[in-house]
Amino acid sequence: MNLSDLKFMYEGKAKKLYEYDEDKTLIYYKDDVTANNGEMKDNMKGKGNINKKFSVYFFKMLEEKGIETHFVEDVDENSFIAEKVDIIPLEVIVRNYAAGSFCRRYGVEKGMKLEFPLVEFSLKDDTLGDPMISKDAALAIKLTDEKTINYLKDQALKINKILNNYFLEKNIILVDYKLEFGIKNGKIILADEISPDTCRFWDSKTKESLDKDVYRESKGNLVDTYSSLTRRLGL
Ligand code: UDP
Repeated sequence: MNLSDLKFMYEGKAKKLYEYDEDKTLIYYKDDVTANNGEMKDNMKGKGNINKKFSVYFFKMLEEKGIETHFVEDVDENSFIAEKVDIIPLEVIVRNYAAGSFCRRYGVEKGMKLEFPLVEFSLKDDTLGDPMISKDAALAIKLTDEKTINYLKDQALKINKILNNYFLEKNIILVDYKLEFGIKNGKIILADEISPDTCRFWDSKTKESLDKDVYRESKGNLVDTYSSLTRRLGL
């Protein structure tokens, strides 16, 4: 696909969006990697391809299990075609184990298995650092309505069951991850990406990180880590 033939729409930290047609967009996964709200920034050849591959694989899998997603068609190394959606400005965070900001917030030990899968919301706003937001606060500031926010939680829990079953078989712990949803013709569908940039994965035995924490915490080479995860999952 020649990107220069398409109308550029938007550039984020890890992706670029182009207009594919009236109701479809082409998502290009960049090799850029950022962490700590842009404080750390690098370019790593091959990263975009891996994240695209991951997202395509999991969007297809979730579709087969009845979860509607924005995925339409795989295109090339770094891009796929997706439905154009209006992104709901909430990051839906699903946690199975304590890690990252959750440990800092509540003083709990990293790796604690939570009593039940926890769904949290953050306001999607880089300038504010994506602050956590309660359901009531999201409703009070008219970000969304109650029906939508309840649906987001239900979908996140359904997705979590599917993903947990999958990773359990691979001897990988799905620690936590971020989902984003969008609205298309009044319907809420899963959008954005599912990749080692947006999920935490640990090896069940060694508890070694297989995700972006390798970069955040300078624990090794990010592309090598992502590539071996890709091979391990057979993607
Ligand atoms: N996450 C993400 N984008 C964000 C915030 C979080 O993809 O803007 C993912 C992150 O990779 C992790 C999960 O959501 O898998 C929970 O992140 P957390 O709130 O612990 O924040 P972090 O420790 O990554 O700052």
